[in-house]
Amino acid sequence: MSSLICNYFIFSSNPFLFTDMSIKENEITLKKITAHCKEYGFIFGSSEIYDGLSASYDYGPNGVLLKNNISEFWWKSMVQMNENIVGLDASIFMHPKTWKASGHVDAFNDPLIDNKDSKKRYRADVLVEDHIAKIHLKINKEVIKARKQFGESFDETHFISTHPRVINYRNQIQSIENRMKTIIAENNLESFKKLIIDLKISDPVSGTKNWTDVRQFNLMFSTEIGSVSEDAHTIYLRPETAQGIFVNFSNIQKSSRMKPPFGIAQIGKAFRNEIIARQFIFRMREFEQMEMQFFVKPGEEMQWYEHWKLKRMRWHNALGLGPKKYRFHEHLNPAHYANAACDIEFEFPMGFKELEGIHSRTDFDLTAHEKLSGKKLRYFDPQENESYIPYVVETSIGLDRMFLALLSAAYQEEVLEDNSKRIVLKLPAALAPSKVAVLPLMNKDGLPEKAQEIFKELKFDITAQYDAKDAIGRRYRRQDAVGTPFCITVDHQSLKDDTVTIRERDSMKQKRIPKTDIQRILEENINLKGLLKSI
Ligand code: ATP
Repeated sequence: MSSLICNYFIFSSNPFLFTDMSIKENEITLKKITAHCKEYGFIFGSSEIYDGLSASYDYGPNGVLLKNNISEFWWKSMVQMNENIVGLDASIFMHPKTWKASGHVDAFNDPLIDNKDSKKRYRADVLVEDHIAKIHLKINKEVIKARKQFGESFDETHFISTHPRVINYRNQIQSIENRMKTIIAENNLESFKKLIIDLKISDPVSGTKNWTDVRQFNLMFSTEIGSVSEDAHTIYLRPETAQGIFVNFSNIQKSSRMKPPFGIAQIGKAFRNEIIARQFIFRMREFEQMEMQFFVKPGEEMQWYEHWKLKRMRWHNALGLGPKKYRFHEHLNPAHYANAACDIEFEFPMGFKELEGIHSRTDFDLTAHEKLSGKKLRYFDPQENESYIPYVVETSIGLDRMFLALLSAAYQEEVLEDNSKRIVLKLPAALAPSKVAVLPLMNKDGLPEKAQEIFKELKFDITAQYDAKDAIGRRYRRQDAVGTPFCITVDHQSLKDDTVTIRERDSMKQKRIPKTDIQRILEENINLKGLLKSI
């Protein structure tokens, strides 16, 4: 199956090339972020010397530091700060029956369709969603036009509910959404194609409506285990980390002597053969998830679902990217295994998109594994003298998506007072790849020696950089561009009175301080403790 797909989308000549035609305007920002990531060693396209492998990326020296800091913040906020949450690092390969029980073998599919002229492959539902997005744009245009016409007295709510053209557009959207819902519920692939034909959707590349039938495509990567081909068994690269937690439920509950409500947290790689992987690290085929499954008594799941919604939003808000950057999107038709589900959406450069999922997964997974394995996955409650299969509330966030969220909010181009420009990454200080750069004002007169002395002491506790090349202004710009919150500059006065200047990244303000204050000032400002306390 995968060799067939190769022809269409696995290899692209440039992994930093975007194919989504409907988001042209915003792509500029995403493109800038992508280029910045490459220039400053955050992210490179995978195997670039062979023209790259689409939707696969490598984290460079600054990228790996930032990524580790994000996962440390998540891990500590979950495991260290909650005495009823413990950790796990399960293997990527699992017994194939795991994926039968979880429903991934039979139902982890996306509907795909090919254009016969361009030979491009699309997700059928995404084609329809893009079509709906275009109708939304038409509504927006009407609103902008009317706002200009009516000025101050414009009442948007009234306009949207009464203007005949807007009403017509809204009815179109409603009717398309209803048809999609029925098609998905009935898994009716013929009707899916008919919907695409009826909506006159054409391929953005070839411009034609020459479509194949819609087919289901399983997103799991498979491979074979066993040294001799006759013994080989098909196994899958895990498409989510959650199942490693479910199959270990009893091991962990017993060995850690946990009783519901309690959680198991895990950070690890997941793999999905996404039909179209696009928008930089937003949708990849190999990515990392940070998941926590919280096991509760049946009947108490909705209270915990609300608890984790709030708690996760507080985690995001602690980062100070601004509350307007986030919103909840409640699922009206949750997946078959859930009785409630929502996404925390983030305003990426290409609009609000899912960053994290919070799902009340009922007892679906534990029950399914119990049935197929024949092993009990229950908790015995000694007080009630009964055993039950716990219900599960899950929080699941993509580490790479969180990385992109942070970068896209932090990346800023500023015009300074002297009309020069600077690019600065206003990352939360505690997560910045390096916390401080130590810079001798000049590379002579004993300044490098003094600066080295400070640098060598600091690096026991924090990630610090030493930079003596180029004029001081250029060095500050380099540190701004990678988000280093503080620069310590050693000048001639430092040699006389043991003081240094400390420069803060966002305000660019500089202050002279005694050398002995450096450690304290840094600790006060770059510590994860501040973030953890505000959750
Ligand atoms: P989407 O609707 O965007 O495909 P999903 O609903 O399938 O996502 P989940 O299965 O809930 O995603 O996975 C949890 C989290 O994992 C998502 O919120 C997202 O942050 C991350 N994630 C999922 N698929 C990918 C991917 N292909 N690349 C990067 N991150 C991903």
